[in-house]
Amino acid sequence: MSSLLITNIGELTTHGPQGTVQHAAMVVDEGRVAWIGGAGHLPMTDARLDVEGRAVIPGFVDSHAHLVFAGSRAAEFAARMAGQPYTGGGIRTTVSATRAAPDEALRANAARLLAEAARQGTTTMEIKSGYGLTVADEERSLRIAAEFTPETTFLGAHVVPADTDPDEYVRLVCGDMLKAAAPYARWVDVFCERGAFDAEQSRAVLRAGIDAGLRPRVHANQLSQGPGVQLAVELGAASADHCTHLSEADIKALADSDTVATLLPGAEFSTRSPYPDARSLLDAGVTVALATDCNPGSSFTTSMPFCLALAVREMRMTPAEALRAATTGGAKALRRTDIGHLAVGACADLTVLDAPSFLHLAYRPGVPLVHTVLRNGAPLCRPSQ
Ligand SMILES: [Zn+2]
Repeated sequence: MSSLLITNIGELTTHGPQGTVQHAAMVVDEGRVAWIGGAGHLPMTDARLDVEGRAVIPGFVDSHAHLVFAGSRAAEFAARMAGQPYTGGGIRTTVSATRAAPDEALRANAARLLAEAARQGTTTMEIKSGYGLTVADEERSLRIAAEFTPETTFLGAHVVPADTDPDEYVRLVCGDMLKAAAPYARWVDVFCERGAFDAEQSRAVLRAGIDAGLRPRVHANQLSQGPGVQLAVELGAASADHCTHLSEADIKALADSDTVATLLPGAEFSTRSPYPDARSLLDAGVTVALATDCNPGSSFTTSMPFCLALAVREMRMTPAEALRAATTGGAKALRRTDIGHLAVGACADLTVLDAPSFLHLAYRPGVPLVHTVLRNGAPLCRPSQ
């Protein structure tokens, strides 16, 4: 692979030892950041990219998404906006549509959503199963997910299928379903919530996953205060996701642990629910990530800039905190050190913004500001053309 010099960077956010560099240049070699400097004495490289004063940020790391599904829940969204509450039961609607869809339809839908995310600056996306809920459908969901990302998550314990005994279903998830899913999954996840899986069932699922070589993460405390966050911390989960309803003890447990709190404000936006208390988490020293929770029911967005703007406007995160959460925070939630920042040696996963500063991501909500996206130093997309 040839080396590339990126010149005329107006503002470079590295989230690395060099912090933020004005009037910067960068060399990418073998897909990695090889050099960062000022405007003078530029190294010789095979190719050059002049970004004409634009801002450069690390590519977004979207650490929570459900992209393998079929069907639409636009009508459910409209009903909700007309006053019906969100309960999580609509997941079963997507399960029926997903089971009925051929592999090719599921693959095409995931590819379309990933391309959409890339056009908005996302360079890494986690993908969960959880709309199959049979051994065969969970296995194929993860097989398809693994075609697109190494960050695949087995979420057989998303909801108990209709007409199924919950304890019997948990045994299936921990047994044959896990066995079929594990070869294609890096992570194991559970929806720990009233109406989904209780603490004991969630612990059983996560323990079984850990025994099969997967690493845990948890859908925790989304709809109510509950045991999810404490369970995530107890099992050393990389991330507790949602964290919308937390007690003081939950915040302290997160602060004393390595478990990242992944906030998904697209879900609160799309269900018209109160947002998580990001300030209390940040002020307590918890590592916070932002992700889209892209799914057809409760948050059908692939846009990290949109989530970042929500975090700033609705959750009182500063623009710098929100950008860090959407990049470095997401990487930590996936236990990755090679992405989410642009220090020398990191993957050259970066987004050129059609703006002089990353501040514009929240300052100009809803505006397509992504100019160019590189992953491993190669063009992923160039939406501005
Ligand atoms: Zn989710």
